Amino acid sequence: MVTTIPQKEETGSSRPPSSTSPNSVAQRTLRRVVRDDGVCILTFDRPGSSANIFDRRALTELGEELDAIATDSNIKGLVLTSAKRSIFIAGADIKAMSENASPEDIGKLVELGQDVMNRLAALPIPTAVAIHGAAVGGGYELCLACDYRVASTDKATKIGLPEIQLGLLPAWGGSTRLPRLIGLPKALEIILAGKTVVAKPALKRGMVDQLVHKEYLTEAAIRILPRGKRAVDRHILTNNPLVAKAIALRLRSQLMKKTRGHYPAVLAALDVVTRGVSMSIAESLALERERVLELVQGDTCRNLIRIFLLQERAKKQTIPWVGPTTELKPIKNTAVIGAGVMGTGIAQWFSSRQLPVILRDINTEQVAKGMAAITKTFKDGAKRHVFTPLEVRNGLDRIYPAPIEVPLRHVDLVVEAAVEKLDLKKKIFQSLDKLVGEETILATNTSALPISELAASTHQPERVVGLHFFNPVHRMQLVEIVAARQTSPEVLQRALSFVQQIGKLPVVVKDSPGFLVNRILMPYLIEAGNLFESGASIEDLDKAMLDFGMPMGPMRLLDEVGIDVALHVAQTIAANYGDRMHVPDLLSKMARAGLLGKKSGRGFYLHQKGKEPTPNSDASNFRPSATNHHLPVTDYQQRMVLLMVNEAARCLEEEIVPDPADVDFAMIMGTGFAPFRGGPLHYLGGKSS
Ligand code: NAD
Repeated sequence: MVTTIPQKEETGSSRPPSSTSPNSVAQRTLRRVVRDDGVCILTFDRPGSSANIFDRRALTELGEELDAIATDSNIKGLVLTSAKRSIFIAGADIKAMSENASPEDIGKLVELGQDVMNRLAALPIPTAVAIHGAAVGGGYELCLACDYRVASTDKATKIGLPEIQLGLLPAWGGSTRLPRLIGLPKALEIILAGKTVVAKPALKRGMVDQLVHKEYLTEAAIRILPRGKRAVDRHILTNNPLVAKAIALRLRSQLMKKTRGHYPAVLAALDVVTRGVSMSIAESLALERERVLELVQGDTCRNLIRIFLLQERAKKQTIPWVGPTTELKPIKNTAVIGAGVMGTGIAQWFSSRQLPVILRDINTEQVAKGMAAITKTFKDGAKRHVFTPLEVRNGLDRIYPAPIEVPLRHVDLVVEAAVEKLDLKKKIFQSLDKLVGEETILATNTSALPISELAASTHQPERVVGLHFFNPVHRMQLVEIVAARQTSPEVLQRALSFVQQIGKLPVVVKDSPGFLVNRILMPYLIEAGNLFESGASIEDLDKAMLDFGMPMGPMRLLDEVGIDVALHVAQTIAANYGDRMHVPDLLSKMARAGLLGKKSGRGFYLHQKGKEPTPNSDASNFRPSATNHHLPVTDYQQRMVLLMVNEAARCLEEEIVPDPADVDFAMIMGTGFAPFRGGPLHYLGGKSS
């Protein structure tokens, strides 16, 4: 639904507007209002959408409005604003840059965007933007083309240039204008990381000029106009060829090390910004155009855009065979069983999304520890401006710690996150069956246990579903929604809507040992263990996969997961696919000896607080023989990755998910599988074509 702010609030003035543009009819994105004092208010309000985005049509319309404004001598100043509830302008229409678009089409869109921003920047009257909500990518480039930027203090306000994350660079003037506004080093920090910041840090960095409460936003933007056209700050200490060259040289080697050369956009952006800063605006814009056109034609950019579009798809997904979702009972009250690592993470996330949560554990100490962990997550979030102190307090108040049995009849969803033992989970489900109401959904966060078996142990198996969150819950966006054989479509749809409601990205999968993500990841980790057992070094194995583009090497990942936990999941999965998965003895030997990975300080690495982990030479004592071997990096990569690819293909064949894109999406979002490669099945396609 489109939410529009009433006209009075938009102008921030109680006076009625003196004239409105004849173009302000329903199907246009922009509304133009000229006040008696000569201030023109241009409001973005994309029809039929909760977001404003820049597509060709919106840009053309903006160009037309700017032409009209430029020739109207009654207009003394311009304020741009948005009528949307939580979005200023969410950037360019990414679909226009996806696989189907030709380089010519993209080239024209880049030119059009630059041209419109230039026309805005060239207006002789002072201009200001009133930013409430997301002003990102092209949305912020529009802000940069104005003289002044006033933003609301609201949490919804997020400002930045995230193009790098899509394998692009800001090419509607962002790479040119941001360094001129805030200086080269600060601009690079934003552009190269594809950073988006909330209001306060944006002000601190100079990305906006003023913060006000959203109620007074337009008023404040109008009040800033009498300052006149903005004088250019030359930033002479940083924005000169000598310093720019030195910065480029230093950052280039750092970025190469960090990206291992897999993300060309980062280096292209560095080049454009550091060279462009000493050029004329027109030359710098030409450089932006040239480099972005190279990037959009590359596989990396295509793959990153595909993943972005799959994320958008996941946000809107529905279960095809269910009727209108509005009739389904919404989830308002929740409970989590088990206050360990996952239970506390899940409870914190639910509460941060305004849901009351009962946090139940049989162990009182665990409940106390869990609450301490939740407090820490909230407080860390407050430090990063994610929560206000009041939100932290309310968030904690919404969690009800329960070391004893409490009534659960009113609860709409219970997520069980107790220890990974089938018999124990069955007992918990049997007792929940009696404690909860008729319509309560019973979900389990199990990593790999058969959900259909758990469902079968209850009286209403159709209400049992898997909700597999990933660790750490507040950072990992993916949730596998696992449909047991018995799960009803309604329960599945309610679970799906719930996951979307709490801001996570769902993938709906069929029940099978390990579901989708762990089932595909495990053969890879098992193979890493087998390679180590047969003489490969920790360093070689991790380096090979970091070079491939994984965010973390497999040995380090085993330590992070915990050797005992990984062993347990590996055994559960291998018990079902034993013909092709052999869990190395090494893992049980290490677990028995207390080498549990990060949590015990020792595993494949030695972990000391505040220090980078170092390979643990003792780990090789658990090998059957003392042989060492070095294979070429590509051999290691192929042995580990191809097992993942094979398992991914099997999942598709068994219809664990219906679409190869689901596999790629889940593996990238759930494990960080080299995003630039597009996921395991896309990688396979690339290799075989
Ligand atoms: P954990 O050992 O940290 O916590 C388990 C908690 O369950 C403990 O606090 C324990 O006291 C409690 N518990 C045991 N029996 C109980 C009962 N009858 N009633 C209530 N509480 C009980 O475990 P974890 O790592 O949080 O894992 C929990 C579940 O989530 C497991 O099924 C695991 O496979 C799954 N999981 C774990 C991860 C991970 O990375 N740790 C990731 C995804 C899923």
